[in-house]
Amino acid sequence: MVPLEQQFASDNYSGICPEAMAAIEESNHGHAPAYGNDPWTQHAADAFRELFEKDCEVFFVFNGTAANSLALASLCQSYQGIICCDSAHVETDECGAPEFFSNGSKLLVARSEDGKLSSAAIRELATKRMDIHYPKPKVVTMTQSTETGRVYTPAEVRALSETCKEHGLSLHMDGARFANAVAALGCTPAEMTWKAGVDVLCFGGTKNGMAVGESVVFFDRKMAVDFDYRCKQAGQLASKMRFLAAPWVGMLGSGAWLKNARHANDCATYFAGQVAGIAGVKLVGPVEANAVFLAASDAILDRLRAKGWLFYTFIGGAARFMFAWDTELARVDKLVRDLKDCV
Ligand SMILES: *Cc1c(COP(=O)(O)O)cnc(C)c1O
Repeated sequence: MVPLEQQFASDNYSGICPEAMAAIEESNHGHAPAYGNDPWTQHAADAFRELFEKDCEVFFVFNGTAANSLALASLCQSYQGIICCDSAHVETDECGAPEFFSNGSKLLVARSEDGKLSSAAIRELATKRMDIHYPKPKVVTMTQSTETGRVYTPAEVRALSETCKEHGLSLHMDGARFANAVAALGCTPAEMTWKAGVDVLCFGGTKNGMAVGESVVFFDRKMAVDFDYRCKQAGQLASKMRFLAAPWVGMLGSGAWLKNARHANDCATYFAGQVAGIAGVKLVGPVEANAVFLAASDAILDRLRAKGWLFYTFIGGAARFMFAWDTELARVDKLVRDLKDCV
């Protein structure tokens, strides 16, 4: 099979990073107890507790849709509502899974220009209706870094969590690109989450360099009661759990999670710098993590596609380029040259 040349359509086009691969191989010796009762799963959970400086409860699931949906379902009743941004993955890219797994909790969608939630938007949705005919707002979900490539500073997260507390809402963070946000801001994972008032985090491994797997981190253990049953019922309890957990041991133990994210972010910044002067191509929004959005005419984008480049335009109304742990600068340079040829 001939591999695809590097593409920047999504950071999940990349393969498995060496640290995650080595951990899979290392864990593939002999037998181990099933369903998470193995030493790898224990070590991975301990590694999260160390990373977050908190005695949190950690669960390992296969993907982000499951992580988000099950986490949100555990935070509200079916008659309650989940406040999110209009560009949130839970709203646009999960096929109704959060509603499905919560037995009908309605997503209450806030309009946003830049893909970030604001305290004002949360307040508006939380107080819009108090009558019995409207789902009772119970949770807020925010994405860090956002689908639009932006980040929330720890102070911004804290401001949102304070608004949540005022209205009796819990705060969930979709961290499919959590590592990119930490790398961008240079803060600690704790400062970005529980110290700023986040109750539950879905920490993405896939886009960060793993084959598969996201972890659900409950900073308040009481909120995690029976979450294991929820995972099992949803088909998300891996019987050979060690292979879902071991890559986390490799990623967190070696620091690859942060190194990978830094590299991806640096490549995005580099690409944005290279395209800055190209006439007919406009950078949309600041580059804060590993995404770059470009506005250009359909003719230019069609010519770029004709040169073999794959990219999405259904997010943010612009052409999106995502960089990953393995991005090669030579390939970025090729994209820049091709883009220049297209204008
Ligand atoms: C990729 C992504 C997810 C996870 O998606 P899956 O395909 O279900 O693993 C969740 N949230 C955001 C913001 C994402 O970009």
